[in-house]
Amino acid sequence: MLSYLHAFHAGNFADVQKHAALILVLAMMQAKKSAIACFDTHAGSALYDLAGDRARKTAESDLGVQRLWSERQSLQSPDWQSMLSVLQAHNRNGGGPLEDYPGSPAWLAHFSRPGDSVTAFELHPSEGRALEKWATRAGVRVRCEDGLKGLLRSLPPAQPRLLTLIDPSYEIKNDYRAVADTLVKAWQKCRHGVYLVWYPVMANGLEQPLLDTLAEGPVRKILRSEVRLESPPERGMVGSGMLVVNPPWGFDQRFAAMLDDLKGPRRLGLSASMDWLVPE
Ligand code: SAM
Repeated sequence: MLSYLHAFHAGNFADVQKHAALILVLAMMQAKKSAIACFDTHAGSALYDLAGDRARKTAESDLGVQRLWSERQSLQSPDWQSMLSVLQAHNRNGGGPLEDYPGSPAWLAHFSRPGDSVTAFELHPSEGRALEKWATRAGVRVRCEDGLKGLLRSLPPAQPRLLTLIDPSYEIKNDYRAVADTLVKAWQKCRHGVYLVWYPVMANGLEQPLLDTLAEGPVRKILRSEVRLESPPERGMVGSGMLVVNPPWGFDQRFAAMLDDLKGPRRLGLSASMDWLVPE
């Protein structure tokens, strides 16, 4: 029984890191003309109401995308621009707080080109229904089934290139193991694919087996980006991690410059690190 609902967390600091990475990777891949198959294995419901009860209960977006938005004039990296222009288009109340926030399938749908495809998996019944309703307008294929199994069945894709986001809620402890196993199998089916894997950085290090398994496994060229709260809670999530397998050339430097913009208490209060979990 799945109980996680992303509406309680949408637009938090982890979403900012994850969606910024997703948008930049896709933009850099699109420097070449050939079509891209995009897969989102854990899609959520695509659009989130930041003023709604669920979002306000945790107010996580206040120290995430709302802070990014209020500081948008002072961001140094030009790579924030595409994200900001979509946020602007979603929110028509002038310069005030954001009202709506797009989830990962909405970012993929927005930036995909004719010829690219977007397939989104979601297992939670009500999230799946909301996703299906949204997807009919957005031209996204929705599969209400397990995203890890669905991804493996879909590879290799019809298009010459592949971009995959794996973003589970890690409600079940075995999710860490299942993600590592799936990434290895997916990479064996499509070695040139670009894979983004999100994971929480936990105070108790629960994510470590995922990283250890991948560090010792066959997949090459895994870039690791982590952001950590400068004032972390004693328990639970203290940061957010992204693994990028086969990042486009130069992605590490451009993404590091974006994350530099999130440092300090006036911004998102994050520290950032980047290294190769597995080199080429
Ligand atoms: N990727 C979304 C975004 O960035 O906007 C957020 C996704 S949320 C962290 C994880 C989602 O995965 C939840 O909506 C949950 O219902 C769904 N989920 C959990 N287990 C799943 C599975 N095995 N297959 C597909 N979806 C699953």
